[in-house]
This record gives sequence, C-alpha cells and structure tokens, in this order.
Amino acid sequence: MEEWIDQMQGFINTPEQLKDMINLNEQEEEALARLNTRWGATPYFASLMDRDDPDCPVRKQIIPSLKELENRYGMKDYLIFHENRAVESNRPDCIAQQYTDRVAFTVIDRCASYCRHCFRREMVVDRELKLRFDVEEGLKWIRQNREIRDVLVTGGDPFLLSDQRLEYLIAKLREIDHVKMIRFGTRTVINLPQRITPGLMKILGRYHRVPIWINTQCNHPKEITETTAKAVFDLLRCGINVGNQAVLLKGINDDVPTFRELHQKLLTVRIRPYYLFYCEAAPGIDHFRTPVEKGSQLIRDALQGHTTGLARPHHVIATNIGKIPLMPDHYITEKTDTEYRLKNYKGEETSLPNVV
Ligand SMILES: *Cc1c(COP(=O)(O)O)cnc(C)c1O
Repeated sequence: MEEWIDQMQGFINTPEQLKDMINLNEQEEEALARLNTRWGATPYFASLMDRDDPDCPVRKQIIPSLKELENRYGMKDYLIFHENRAVESNRPDCIAQQYTDRVAFTVIDRCASYCRHCFRREMVVDRELKLRFDVEEGLKWIRQNREIRDVLVTGGDPFLLSDQRLEYLIAKLREIDHVKMIRFGTRTVINLPQRITPGLMKILGRYHRVPIWINTQCNHPKEITETTAKAVFDLLRCGINVGNQAVLLKGINDDVPTFRELHQKLLTVRIRPYYLFYCEAAPGIDHFRTPVEKGSQLIRDALQGHTTGLARPHHVIATNIGKIPLMPDHYITEKTDTEYRLKNYKGEETSLPNVV
C-alpha cells in the first residue's frame, strides 16, 4: 500500500493515540473531552509535535484549545459572508467567486490535519455548515463562464482525492479552452508529503498547455523537514512551482526570529513565499489573531533588507470583496516637487528626482 494511504489510515484523532506520542496537559485533556470539533493529523505531522511543550507551534495547530470556546471577535456565519453565499444564488456551492477572471473551486471537505486556525472551520472543522461539493456541477459552471481563466482547486485538501479523481478533474479542466491555469491549494506538502508519489507526479507532470501551480501552507520552520524538501523537489521536477501561503498566528510565528527563519527556510527547500494572511474573523480563533499591522511590521523588521526579496510574501487580508494588500509604504519618507526621499531598512536615506 502507498505510504500516504497508510498515513491517512493511521490518522491521529483520539486522546489515546495522542498520549502515546506526547504528554498532554490538563487544559489539552479538558479541551479534547469538551469540544465538539473535528481534530487530528497524520502520524507524520503529529510526530513533529514536541512531547512536553504545550506551546509547541505544531502542537498548537493540531490540538484543540479551550480558547476556541471564546468568541468575542469571530463573526457569525463567517464563511457565508466571506464567500458571498447569501447574495448570489446561481453559483454552485463548490464555486467561490470574488474576482472576474478566477474562482476557488472546493472539491472536498477533508484534510490531512485539521488546523485549529482554519478560516473555513464552520464547514471543514466544526461541520455545522453543509455545502454540496459536486465536481460535475462546478465543471459545468466553469465551462459556461468564459471569463474564468484561472481555477484554484481547494477544499478541504484536494490532494486527498485519489489519483484517479485528480486525473479526471485535471483532464476536464484542461479541456476547457478558456482555462489557462490550474492551481491547487494543498497543505499535504507540509502535513502529508508522502502524497507526492511517482503516480501523482505522472498525473501532474510533463509539458501541458495549461500549467499547474501549487500553494501550500507552512507557518513555522519546524514544519519543514527533509521529507518536505524531497516532495517539493519532486513537484518542481515535473514542472510545478510551489508557493507558500502562511497565516500570521499569535504565539506561533509573530516574532522576528521565527518569522525570518520561516521565510528563509522555505527558500532553502525551494518553496517561494507568496502570501502572508491576516488571521480571519472566523469564529473560535480569536486567540490566534494579532493586530492587523503586525504582519507588515514583521515583514519590515524581519525580512525587508535583512534577507533576499525572494523571501518576502505579500501581506494581505482576505475579505468578502477579495484580498486586500496591507503593506504600507514605509520607505518613502518625503516627496517634494523635485525629489523623493527614500529610506532603506537601516534607516539610511537617499533621494531621487521626482519625475512629473
Ligand atoms: C484567494 C482567492 C483567489 C485567488 O487569489 P490570488 O490573489 O489570485 O491568489 C481566487 N478566488 C477566491 C474566492 C479567493 O479567495
């Protein structure tokens, strides 16, 4: 049997399994007993948890917390709001649209780890929101909407689909003339890198008219292993670029050294930082949220000038009207009729002519 299927069959989702791997503290035990939520991870991803430290960044993404019961700032029916589902009725459940030329196409509601900070938690983690994931319905809608040139396949985690299902989906999307690129949002590169098998590489790989791009989610340097590096290299070998979409999480990656190490380490395994997301206003994740400005400050203090620009993600907040960039321009200090004054990361200044 393929190792990734083994990993999914050995999914860690009972307190007993956890206790074989780590020493749970009282709050964790209570949260596991009290919270009515889906949780769990592959044995591989769970093995990255620290045995004794409840503040371990991987542990905090896997094990539910009593803090999920607090909900001062989380919005009710967040996903309905975020994906404009209440206002548009002729779009299938599996298609989320915020832009004219591209859509998010949800094909599955299962994941290889149920992130505690998930912005789709009402649907994927808590399962209160029931949506229909009818792939045929989605394909038909995309076929009929000729302005869609870019399809972002998401979930859940689309790489939990079988090779056969993925091959079918990709073939059907490639048959549509107006579709010029296919993207997969998958965290398997991080939580189930064994999924990148020779069989999957055959399906994804080779030269095609319509390229495939992947974005994964890695939030802490501890999540990157030799196995990750190998999976990314295999994807690149078959022509697939891998980007990262990190979520800014309080107590996990919101300090300068961790933030810098994360982005530098991503590049060492050939993953290109793409987005840094502000942690969204979904219910039950208040404890992960920072002030909105924090991400830009981290990019300024940990990355800009301190390391290569290749390491720098776009800082954005995802909203119901699309992603909104959050990077203020810290670097233009003054503008006159004749010149711009510019500042570098050390605070040194220079000036350039203002072309009018
Ligand atoms: C994030 C997102 C996209 C893709 O946005 P890019 O900025 O192109 O990566 C497309 N549609 C929806 C609904 C999204 O949330």
